[in-house]
Amino acid sequence: MSFALDLTDEQLALRDKAHAFAREVIRPVAAEYDRAQELPWPVLQEAARHGLYGWELYAQLSIDPTGLSLPILMEELFWGCAGIGLTIVLPALALAAIRQAATDEQLVQWAPQCFGTPDDLKLAALAVTEPSGGSDVRSIQTRARQDGDDWVIDGHKVFIGNGGIADVHVVVATVDPDAGHRGQGVFIVPKGTPGLSMLRKLDKLGCRASHTAEIVLESCRLPGGYLLGGIERLRERIARGREAEQGQQPIVPAEEGGPAAAVQRRSSAALGAFERTRPMVAAQAIGIARAALEFARDYAVGRAAFGAPIIENQGIAFPLADLATDIDSARLLTWRAAWMAAQRQPFENAEGSMSKLKASEVAVRACEQAIQTMGGWGYVKDFPVEKWYRDAKLYTIFEGTSEIQRLVIGRALRAQANTDSLDQRMINPQ
Ligand SMILES: Cc1cc2nc3c(=O)[nH]c(=O)nc-3n(C[C@H](O)[C@H](O)[C@H](O)COP(=O)(O)OP(=O)(O)OC[C@H]3O[C@@H](n4cnc5c(N)ncnc54)[C@H](O)[C@@H]3O)c2cc1C
Repeated sequence: MSFALDLTDEQLALRDKAHAFAREVIRPVAAEYDRAQELPWPVLQEAARHGLYGWELYAQLSIDPTGLSLPILMEELFWGCAGIGLTIVLPALALAAIRQAATDEQLVQWAPQCFGTPDDLKLAALAVTEPSGGSDVRSIQTRARQDGDDWVIDGHKVFIGNGGIADVHVVVATVDPDAGHRGQGVFIVPKGTPGLSMLRKLDKLGCRASHTAEIVLESCRLPGGYLLGGIERLRERIARGREAEQGQQPIVPAEEGGPAAAVQRRSSAALGAFERTRPMVAAQAIGIARAALEFARDYAVGRAAFGAPIIENQGIAFPLADLATDIDSARLLTWRAAWMAAQRQPFENAEGSMSKLKASEVAVRACEQAIQTMGGWGYVKDFPVEKWYRDAKLYTIFEGTSEIQRLVIGRALRAQANTDSLDQRMINPQ
């Protein structure tokens, strides 16, 4: 299927439905949940009733051959509020990790438990990052060891969305440190597992409606079946990992940083696979950026200074014009990457990282420009742009920082380089 920008009737309907939900259900309560820093249970319940919070939704959207349904959904929800949006989509992040690592039977067992039902909501978390570092996912300190048929996990995770309150924690732990990233396993740690506890809920700058916490796992004992993919598959990976480590393959820097990283690396050949979730995160950032641009545009048209609407001043209009252009560029990069992921095309040019890098940096700039456009009114809580600014900053940090995205893109550039045509005397003169 070739890449096209025409949306299907289903995609248009999804966009309209998600936008209406964002406008009518999310936006009216966004400021309050931001202030209170509380999980928006009633919004989650409404989302579940509208079919926007449930494993079936993602099962359906993930088979869209155009790949565009998921970014469309993300952009609209996050246009409403990124904190509430995160709460709605966090279980989908955990589900993506389960889908990547699990057997079919395990997927059937755990997918419904990530979301629950409208009358019995459940939460899920993906726990990768540790206090000692999130970008370098090779060096995960949390350990899993076999004890008879069981697994026993000890470790410490930080910045975990829904951490400690989730019904299903998807935890990445090192089983064999000598096998590099292939020595890591992905485990289900259900709520109530003895030894699993929340150390503290984190007090955040933005995205405050989303619960983020630091958790510890102390001698958490799990049945053998809670290792996703099963022991045989892990043993094979460990054997390949040990071989690779002994062969001293170059250490891949931290380019696969972010929550989904470790769970998406079945083999070094699958490095590009991790990029598949990045367009989804990029689309979230675009939602924030679009919200900020629309607000600044309307303000600039309505606000007068020196006898004319401020939009007539090039100092106001040009930065907004640049933003409109950048937001569309970011969306095109995002849709391209989402389409490639759906078509199982390799990201040879780091297309996923490009989308996430561009969208997250545009989102921060859009919110900053919106504040500037509104002057003092942009800086106070009477209007939502200061909140969007705080929310947007997360996007250059989580799911792989901007530096990590640049590393991945730079690595792709190095791989493509062809120095044959260079005149060596010009670049190595001596
Ligand atoms: C609100 C929030 C929610 C989050 N949700 C989750 C979640 O649900 N699950 C989860 O597992 N994690 C989550 N994270 C963690 C997030 O993915 C990490 O914060 C992120 O991967 C960066 O890790 P770090 O904070 O340890 O920074 P570090 O990895 O310590 O990086 C510090 C700085 O060094 C830079 N850096 C590191 N290595 C390199 C390099 N090789 N080259 C150049 N620069 C480098 C980084 O870009 C960064 O600027 C969340 C974080 C936040 C803030």
